[in-house]
Amino acid sequence: MEIKIIEATLLDLPEIMKLEVASFANDAWPEETFHSELEAKHTYYILALQGEELVGYAGLSKLAGSDQADIQTIAVREDKRGLGIGRKLMDALTLEARNRGAKEIFLEVRADNSIAQKLYKVFGFKQIGTRKKYYQPDGVDAFIMKTDVIRKVNSEPVVLGIETSCDETGVGIVRGNQLLANVISSSMDKHAIFGGVVPEIAARAHLEALTPVLNEALAKAQLTLDDIDAIAVTNGPGLAGALMVGVGAAKALSVATGKPIYAVNHLVGHVGADILDRGELYTPTIALLVSGGHTSLLLVRDLLNDVVLLGETIDDAAGEAFDKVSRVLGLSYPGGPEIDRVAKDANPAAIRFPRGLTLPKDMDKHRYDFSFSGLKTAVARHVELAESKGEEFSIGDVAASFREAVVDVLVKKAINACKDFDVPRLLLGGGVVANARLREVAKEQCEANGIELRIPPFSLCTDNGAMIAAIGAQLIMAGRAPSTLDFSAESTLPVTSVQS
Ligand code: ADP
Ligand code: MG
Repeated sequence: MEIKIIEATLLDLPEIMKLEVASFANDAWPEETFHSELEAKHTYYILALQGEELVGYAGLSKLAGSDQADIQTIAVREDKRGLGIGRKLMDALTLEARNRGAKEIFLEVRADNSIAQKLYKVFGFKQIGTRKKYYQPDGVDAFIMKTDVIRKVNSEPVVLGIETSCDETGVGIVRGNQLLANVISSSMDKHAIFGGVVPEIAARAHLEALTPVLNEALAKAQLTLDDIDAIAVTNGPGLAGALMVGVGAAKALSVATGKPIYAVNHLVGHVGADILDRGELYTPTIALLVSGGHTSLLLVRDLLNDVVLLGETIDDAAGEAFDKVSRVLGLSYPGGPEIDRVAKDANPAAIRFPRGLTLPKDMDKHRYDFSFSGLKTAVARHVELAESKGEEFSIGDVAASFREAVVDVLVKKAINACKDFDVPRLLLGGGVVANARLREVAKEQCEANGIELRIPPFSLCTDNGAMIAAIGAQLIMAGRAPSTLDFSAESTLPVTSVQS
């Protein structure tokens, strides 16, 4: 459910106190303190509401005539942490500080609260001092942090994005919401004899491809590195070794050119791709991301603040299933296009293959999760059995029936998500979106349910640097501070972490 930020009044005091005590235990402010804070003219207190429920609050103080503001407090209910509520509260406070004419914002944070410190760093806060043993009775130090409010917010930043999470080396360049260049070099051919992406080979291929791809992207955009305002890079999720090449290159570029760097989530990047296609992202949207490495269903209420992973594959990714089944059928790699080719004009109802995690008992626990490994085994069994009996079978019918099973589950679960969350939009991303049948069924089902279907052009659906640049540009336009150079490649980065 959507998070609303509203200004707090004295009537909210009892609810605030409940959360205050739950959050800070023996550090909690007394009720009288909160009472006078809420009453005062120089303060600004806000609430984060989910429905009617209070899930967070925060407060700012700014004395008239001073150009400094202080963040007094911020709290998010324990079971709602990690959902971007802290960022929403901070967004609202920093905006208010700016509106009230503050040039700098200060805050104090417990030295042992690294999660809060990380949030503040995203908003440009830097530690400028320490108050020894400030928090009693625990005797914990306070870090004093400060940020400059008047960070110039560039309304149309030129951002270069680097993507190396799997087997595509992608460099893209955007200006604000507009695509300037999108160059991709895939190492797919090098993995063909292995029937799937080999991480070490992918990492080496990135190393070789990065410089030429970068140069080509700059040439296409008719820009030089001097014209770039910022660098964005995928730091996860993906293959660790492959990610490291892009992260290393982006950091080196950032240090060498002095340009700010933004570490961006790959999956959120796929959602951002639609900005480059239609000029903006319409939210809320459900996003179904299907590739060789991922099968993820996301609920996106706000691209930078509120992306929730509803479900994902518990075993093989959808593209991986296409690749494995292709091998079973004696076809080549990548499997998706091959299966599409032989399935054309064949009978998708010839064999009823299992639909993973769709039985009522699975739907309780795994309503939005996927499983394709049982399906792959069922196809292998079917083929083995036919071969052992010396029976003729139609590869086309097996391929079409397999494809139907995959597409059926993908689309059903995505449409369920749209209905369950009352979201009128479905966005597809990832290499499997090339699948002819997936497009067809998604279109039919969306039309039947009054859901708008968004499929960006294929060059923006597969892994690419432009979508990463697009997220970088959104972060800059939202006034976010750059990432600090201590971020690393994180192969299992959660989707809630839009920027590291
Ligand atoms: P990744 O880089 O994570 O492996 P990509 O986005 O590059 O994923 O997509 C590659 C995957 O997409 C492969 O697994 C491939 O089989 C699959 N794929 C490509 N074209 C099709 C298609 N027409 N139908 C189904 N799957 C496809
Ligand atoms: Mg790929």
